[in-house]
Amino acid sequence: MKLKIAVQKSGRLYDDSLKILKECGIELPAALNKLLNEAINFPLQILFLRDDDIPQYVEDGVADIGIVGENVIFEKGRNIQLLDKLGFGKCRLSIAIPRNQSYTGVDFLHQKRIATSYPFLLQQFLDEQKVEAEIHEISGAVEITTSVGLADAICDLVSSGSTLFSNGLKEAEVVLNSEAALISNKDLDDEKQLLVKKLLFRIQAVKKSRKYKYILLNVPNDKIETICSIIPGMKSPSIIPLTTEGWSSLHSVVHEDDFWNIIESLKEHGAQGILVAPIEKMIV
Ligand code: ATP
Ligand code: MG
Repeated sequence: MKLKIAVQKSGRLYDDSLKILKECGIELPAALNKLLNEAINFPLQILFLRDDDIPQYVEDGVADIGIVGENVIFEKGRNIQLLDKLGFGKCRLSIAIPRNQSYTGVDFLHQKRIATSYPFLLQQFLDEQKVEAEIHEISGAVEITTSVGLADAICDLVSSGSTLFSNGLKEAEVVLNSEAALISNKDLDDEKQLLVKKLLFRIQAVKKSRKYKYILLNVPNDKIETICSIIPGMKSPSIIPLTTEGWSSLHSVVHEDDFWNIIESLKEHGAQGILVAPIEKMIV
């Protein structure tokens, strides 16, 4: 019995999907087959598909779980379970308008023609905002529709905004913030659920480790208490006496969100020789 995971066969999610499996200790064959592959050291089969098809394959049970963008998950509205976000493939589904027009708020969109590959999510947004607009569903090259006169605005995925810029557009509204997520079929048997749990545990350890850094520093002994309150770590920091009288080495973990503020504060309180290292896995 093997768990079957659906992964995008090529495109923006491909590399990071395989990377997260690798970081979970799952080894894949060196030469990957185009459709189906078996992991070497975990009961897992990897099925490569177009990202749009992944929610349906997971709902139908052709794959047990899958990695796909939330934008696709919510647009398709399939009867599946979202298990966890994965921290990559980050983008926004946004409404953009020609750069030479001034945006006055959602009312600007009233009675406008908006081109998109995401008609469901766009309609939901327009309904919430009580805006009536005409949705033109197209499957690709959405960003050129305003310049060829097919639409007045577009609703498409954006990350850096450079594609919008080079097509003379500017972002006006964010409809959805999205990232890749792990989804699951809702009726997995107990054995498969156990494997999913095992995989999720590893994914969470990998995700957590990306948010934290390991930190080592030297502190004067009379500052240990203050510094421990700045970097309390997982339980509490480790303290090792230095051979230099009156000094200790302190080891802890810090969250990257507040990283630079913490470093400044440590320096203000007399910390020296601060070393910061990445963490590979973090199990709390
Ligand atoms: P497929 O051939 O599998 O259908 P695709 O062309 O639909 O591929 P990609 O462009 O590879 O899809 O994007 C896959 C996913 O990557 C998107 O659905 C989205 O979740 C995410 N993504 C992240 N940044 C962006 C971006 N700037 N533009 C488009 N998608 C992005
Ligand atoms: Mg696609």
